[in-house]
Amino acid sequence: KPTVILVIGMAGSGKTTLIQRISAHLHATRRQGYIINMDPAVTHLPYGANIDIRDTVKYKNVMKQYNLGPNGGILTSCNLFATRFDQVIQLCEKPREPPLEYIIVDTPGQIEMFTWSASGAIVTELFASSFPTMVAYVVDTPRVTVPQTFMSNMLQACSILYKTKIPMLLLFNKVDVARHEFALEWIQDFDTYAAALEVESSYAATLSRSLALVLDSFYANLRSVGVSAVTGEGMEEMLQQIAECALEFQDIRSVKDKESK
Ligand code: GDP
Ligand code: MG
Repeated sequence: KPTVILVIGMAGSGKTTLIQRISAHLHATRRQGYIINMDPAVTHLPYGANIDIRDTVKYKNVMKQYNLGPNGGILTSCNLFATRFDQVIQLCEKPREPPLEYIIVDTPGQIEMFTWSASGAIVTELFASSFPTMVAYVVDTPRVTVPQTFMSNMLQACSILYKTKIPMLLLFNKVDVARHEFALEWIQDFDTYAAALEVESSYAATLSRSLALVLDSFYANLRSVGVSAVTGEGMEEMLQQIAECALEFQDIRSVKDKESK
């Protein structure tokens, strides 16, 4: 069965560009990928989507019809699409030769449109009941060099992990602009993160310090890899980590199945 990769991250972290790169890499290495775009408001897609939400719902029409602003339009479009998601699952399950290895899902630019809406929960649940499913959480590496931005990003990732209860892989993107080794150090060693915060003595810095201790258990089992959507660095390592996540998914589910028997 193919592995479903839900690509989630802050606006501008590089989700769409990264999917373009992954798609090219899969093509070049003769692996079968299937791409689903769930961003109703995107104007240009740099990759060929196999399923595109924009073919089903026109978010500008949804805005007019329901008298909504842009955000409400996007949210409602995603929710409308989710009501028909069983059809998407059917398309994904159709036997193919050669068989699909990856189903990659691009999510709306604004992270909360997916993570805090009915559509996100429905789509995640439907995928997870049919395929090994994981989250690829995309981080804008140059932006998280600021310690407090790093913290808010990790908290976002942490809340998604506990909400979805499926394996997560952190993709530190844009390593062509800033290397991600500093982030690995901050994850592995709290003291280095604290040292980076030393320069700031605000309330927020104190809060970040306490939160870093809380995040310890989240960091403990976290997988991550540095990638670049521009240069293609890290693609093979990423695919290896994705395979690990798929195994982890099966472990989680088999424990669940035993518990429910
Ligand atoms: P999304 O909102 O998460 O889908 O982000 P996009 O894919 O639209 O990318 C946002 C911006 O980041 C665009 O200007 C991209 O060209 C740029 N970008 C994405 N990935 C990379 C990368 O690996 N390196 C660099 N230098 N820029 C990137
Ligand atoms: Mg995008």
